[in-house]
Amino acid sequence: MTAVADRPVATVRRPDVAPGKLFIGGQWREAAEGARFDVVDPSTGATVTSVARAGKADVDDAVMAARNAFEGWAATPGRERARILHRVADIVRARADEIVGVESVDVGKPVALCRPVDVETTAEQYEYYSALAQTVDGATRQIPIPSHAYTRREPIGVVAAITPFNFPLILSSSKIAPALAAGNTVVHKPAEDTPLSALLMAEILTEAGVPAGVVNVVTGFGAEAGDHLLRHPGVDKVAFTGSTAIGRHAASVAGEQLKPVTMELGGNAAHIVFEDADLDKAIGAAIKGFVFNTGQFCMGGPRLLVASPLYDTVLGALAEAVPHVPLGDPFDPATVIGPMAGERHLSKVEGYVAQALADGGRIVAGGQRVDRDGFFFQPTVIADLPDTSSVVQEEIFGPVLTVQRFDSEDEAITLANGTSYGLAAGLQTENLARAHRVAARLQAGIVWINDWAMLDPAIPFGGVKDSGFGREYGPEALASYTRTKSVVVSLA
Ligand code: NAD
Repeated sequence: MTAVADRPVATVRRPDVAPGKLFIGGQWREAAEGARFDVVDPSTGATVTSVARAGKADVDDAVMAARNAFEGWAATPGRERARILHRVADIVRARADEIVGVESVDVGKPVALCRPVDVETTAEQYEYYSALAQTVDGATRQIPIPSHAYTRREPIGVVAAITPFNFPLILSSSKIAPALAAGNTVVHKPAEDTPLSALLMAEILTEAGVPAGVVNVVTGFGAEAGDHLLRHPGVDKVAFTGSTAIGRHAASVAGEQLKPVTMELGGNAAHIVFEDADLDKAIGAAIKGFVFNTGQFCMGGPRLLVASPLYDTVLGALAEAVPHVPLGDPFDPATVIGPMAGERHLSKVEGYVAQALADGGRIVAGGQRVDRDGFFFQPTVIADLPDTSSVVQEEIFGPVLTVQRFDSEDEAITLANGTSYGLAAGLQTENLARAHRVAARLQAGIVWINDWAMLDPAIPFGGVKDSGFGREYGPEALASYTRTKSVVVSLA
């Protein structure tokens, strides 16, 4: 099958494709109380459709459906689960146009990014966990009594998958694909800002042969449907991706109930440019690091740390290049920067830029909301901020780059590790020994050297410190959806 990335880009907005109802026990239905909420196209600010707003009774039904489906799915041979997951990947590729049309209108994601990144990565995740579904097995162990001792890896049960607005497809697949591969069932609560692709994926999973009740989707609000799902006694594991504040809440609720959790939370990565870097490559990676997904990227690189001798040169190059990064309609294939996903996200970024000026920052590029409909903000570069500024310390989650200088390797590492976050980090150097030495000292779940955002379903990612714990992707994620049982048979 042709890779999604090689095919022409969809240019049609498709808000009407996803059914707009809850998907529970294999059935599409309205919320029990009949409530719905609007979905807004961030590139125009106009309401394009609405979806059902799940309440407590709907979440109860979804958890019940997942519980009822668990025994059958857990007993389905791994090889059969693998076949179904592989079909999901095939259908995602076959329906790529529709998916891009839905995801880009919902998130404001440039189609040129959505197809090769969001859609292709989703297909790759299902492919990858299809392969691993056939490897969920245990080990035999030798012990000094006459016995046959072995371990079994068993699915955990019903997984609550709660996902954020910025990569709706990828971050739901990163939970649903390994959870299903290991034999779990799922209730997915997508972000209220971006609920559409979760519904389209429910259609695709069904078409691929995922049985009724194995994946259920409840669109709704975090404090309502999300919180009820989180606290539900019928949920056995919580897989959460979102902000550190809500993650703290989710982890504490799960902690009270002694449920296993995966916490993929906020980030504020440092990107270090050493004096021996390849400067053209470094500047390209720095720009990619903060404009990728319009800066709404937990693993973006919003803090550029530059060796003092290069500081002015790098600022000059950024001032020259950044205003030319194409910004506009996400359905224009040339667009690199689309709108922010909603007004609240845009206002937050505006607030941080105002704070930067108050803290003595110097705007080197951008700095303004764009004068057009929708939620657009210019790509923005800010120099000369003190390290203590909240603009440096906190997660902005928009197309904003702060640039600081450093005078030694130790100082670069101290600055890089100097926020409460620890999701990603990166560095630019042509010195091999320095690259590995510094990578080992950076407090982050992933370190990129001489490029940015190199991600693959085979490479685990996740956070340290306030960026959370647990890992998605890789065999690590599959393992997190299983638990080990030991069986010891006496041979005496
Ligand atoms: P958010 O925390 O506001 O929402 C995330 C999800 O939690 C949504 O589905 C929301 O409805 C739900 N939620 C909100 N309140 C809840 C509650 N009380 N109980 C249960 N669920 C609740 O995050 P967001 O604004 O959608 O996403 C942006 C954040 O996500 C950023 O901080 C970003 O860094 C982070 N993120 C992290 C990763 C990662 O892999 N570490 C990836 C993407 C995004």
